[in-house]
Amino acid sequence: MNASNLQFFNSSILYNVEQNYQGAEQEALSALQIKCPGCGGAMMYAPKTQNLQCIYCGVTKPLSVQPAQIQENDYVLWAQKSEEEKAKTVQEQSMAALQVKCDQCGATVQLDSTKSSTNCPYCGTSLILEKAQVKRFWQPDYLLPFVIDKKECSSLFTKWLNGKWFLPSKYKNGNVWGEKFQGVYYPYWTYDAHTRTTYNGERGVNHRVTVKGPNGKPTTRTVTDWHTVSGVVARFFDDILVPASKNLPQDIIKEQKNWPLQSLVQYTPEFTAGFTTDVYTVDFTEGVETAKQQMERTIEEDIRKDIGGNQQRIHSKQVFYTDLMFKLILLPLWIGAFKIDGKTYQFIINGRTGEVHGDYPKDKLKVALVVFGAVVALLLLIYIIFQF
Ligand SMILES: [Zn+2]
Ligand SMILES: [Zn+2]
Repeated sequence: MNASNLQFFNSSILYNVEQNYQGAEQEALSALQIKCPGCGGAMMYAPKTQNLQCIYCGVTKPLSVQPAQIQENDYVLWAQKSEEEKAKTVQEQSMAALQVKCDQCGATVQLDSTKSSTNCPYCGTSLILEKAQVKRFWQPDYLLPFVIDKKECSSLFTKWLNGKWFLPSKYKNGNVWGEKFQGVYYPYWTYDAHTRTTYNGERGVNHRVTVKGPNGKPTTRTVTDWHTVSGVVARFFDDILVPASKNLPQDIIKEQKNWPLQSLVQYTPEFTAGFTTDVYTVDFTEGVETAKQQMERTIEEDIRKDIGGNQQRIHSKQVFYTDLMFKLILLPLWIGAFKIDGKTYQFIINGRTGEVHGDYPKDKLKVALVVFGAVVALLLLIYIIFQF
């Protein structure tokens, strides 16, 4: 393992890498690039065939996509570890990543070892590779390999865009945009837990009563009787997903939820060759708080069902978590960022299901037409009602 393994970085990167790195770390970096057994060129993961393919001579190497036997990590055990102990484990089970911070949007971007120049997947700005640094991270436990390649991503995006009536017609050229998408393995923490929740509250039972109105006429109205209740609900949560990076805004990333997690494979760098791999910037102890909020929303629904009646009040609840487990996984996303009239629009396409999400520019005239049409319809409706 030597510096020649880094041939696909430009010379300034190579210089920087050698300055920032020594011994074992350099060895780890060389593992970032997978060399072709035929010609020594770089190999890339090919989503359509799910194997490795040389970008020069086309030689392929099959990869196993056998679903992994999932093993979770014990949360309590890990949370109790000292920073020293955690660092030691990271050292033993770590991966190296060549990282650069985007000056424009602040995203921390991992570089792809098959390219000598790259743009930030989150805002489209070209990255200054001279500023790249090698960092070591806890290696992900499992990943979901891409099955949608760039070509399919591009056509899915074009189809999606063309279905958007509000999009100004001049932007209906998604195949040009589709070319700019970047494949990113995005990090997520997953959490499992058994929960048992005790609660106190009130059950509201509605009934109709007839009373004499002010004008002497009987009128009926709804009255709610409240009864004090308490109880226990239990639920097991499996694979609550929490993004482990803040590079994508919450409102976009939370739309992607249909992940076929039963197809997770053991993490190996081969699946990430030719793609960007984002590393976690959210710690597993920070992620658990988001997971608990998600779980507690479901628990609250359980409590309401348990209380029954027509209305429910929850005064207090206490959730007991047992067998809290977690793992780090990578999920495949095609990310496109485009600057339109000074504003950056981000789109994400699920690398497994092809689901597209993102905000898009809207034609002000078309929006005005629809608003105008709605107002006219409303006025017409009011007119008709008052006619009778
Ligand atoms: Zn080759
Ligand atoms: Zn950026």
